[in-house]
Amino acid sequence: MAEADWRAHAAAADAADPLAAFRARFRLPLAADGRASIYLCGHSLGPMPVEAAARVEDVLRPWAELAVLGHHQGPAPWLDFHAPFAAPLAALVGARPAEVVAMNTLTVNLHLMLVSFYRPTPSRFRILIERGAFPSDRHAVVSQLRFHGLAESALTEVAPRDGEALLRSADLVAAIEAAGDSLALVLLPAVQYRTGQVLDVAAITRASRAAGAAAGWDLAHAIGNVPLALHDSGADFAVWCHYKYLCAGPGAVGGAFVHERHGDGRGLPRFEGWWGHDVASRFDMGPQFLPSPGAAGWQVSNPPLLSLAPLAASLALFEAAGPARLRSKSLALTAFARRLIEARCDGRVEILTPTADAERGCQLSLRIAGGAGRPVFAALTAAGVIGDWREPDVLRLAPAPLYNTFSEVECAIARLAGALPPQ
Ligand SMILES: *Cc1c(COP(=O)(O)O)cnc(C)c1O
Repeated sequence: MAEADWRAHAAAADAADPLAAFRARFRLPLAADGRASIYLCGHSLGPMPVEAAARVEDVLRPWAELAVLGHHQGPAPWLDFHAPFAAPLAALVGARPAEVVAMNTLTVNLHLMLVSFYRPTPSRFRILIERGAFPSDRHAVVSQLRFHGLAESALTEVAPRDGEALLRSADLVAAIEAAGDSLALVLLPAVQYRTGQVLDVAAITRASRAAGAAAGWDLAHAIGNVPLALHDSGADFAVWCHYKYLCAGPGAVGGAFVHERHGDGRGLPRFEGWWGHDVASRFDMGPQFLPSPGAAGWQVSNPPLLSLAPLAASLALFEAAGPARLRSKSLALTAFARRLIEARCDGRVEILTPTADAERGCQLSLRIAGGAGRPVFAALTAAGVIGDWREPDVLRLAPAPLYNTFSEVECAIARLAGALPPQ
């Protein structure tokens, strides 16, 4: 296609986009020269929903006007502030509302889940992760091993095959089967952060449980990005953050899922706190811990409301847009970016992310030929295209269906092609 045709194609797709109006519900950053930037970094930090400020103000105002009475009065009484988040979050991760809770941050939640679901015995003690795991996930499991008096050698790390960038689900399943009776826990990302690859949550969970191991998932790059069916997968637990695709702001409160077969968690070891106590008797202030049913029983402290309030603004947008329309536009936007790269970049930009719809979300992970990645990334940033860089050589761009347009994708890839060094 000629350049003008690509632009016309993008303009037509934008004109036909049923989600086009949602873009105006976000504040998008400006480039250094004051022009609009092209924000393709929602996989790292989602932009601010306009309504986020009002939701924070909903907490500030009762604090100013009611102080302690805000626990029971005002637009969203603080005592049960976290509760309305469960249903929309459950919809996003494919769970029942009682299986989901908004609390803490991702790595903290991971530790709380490992306390309950990593229970090594002398014969069954191994943890299986992927070699490219996000550092925080690896730090969490290795420190849990040490906490139980075990060495790092109790970790099994599965890597892509030589010369390949992606994991194979079959290799993960084979490694789980090989670890067999020694395997206590499998912890994997539903979407790999460096490559954007979606793993087969159902198949890997099935294999883990068949081996007698617990299955836990990190949804940091998955929630708000790809369809999820946690309940049906049978996973034991999952954890995530809300500041990436979910647009709830820097350091936003995270989330956790505990499968309903674990009931109220009695019988599992757990690090308890008063906010996990059953809400009906929490303020009786008795000495015994009576857990809230479901995932809510894993709460420890009363939640930081100023870091939770903005999530209400973005969840309202996700609900209004609807999962089917979001996924359909997401697949189209990212496929458009891929076609443009293939047409315009002379084979000098390798796309690491899988092509098949079932194996990808918004993100494209790019490797630039000839070691030119860093300067190309710098030139792209200077041209107002905001993506990010992951060492040693990956440039990540993620068009997001709630606020990006096809014309932005067209323009971003034109600037990428223009940033490539002369052949
Ligand atoms: C972003 C991300 C985290 C971040 O952890 P925090 O505890 O929220 O700082 C953890 N794991 C993965 C896979 C991530 O992508």
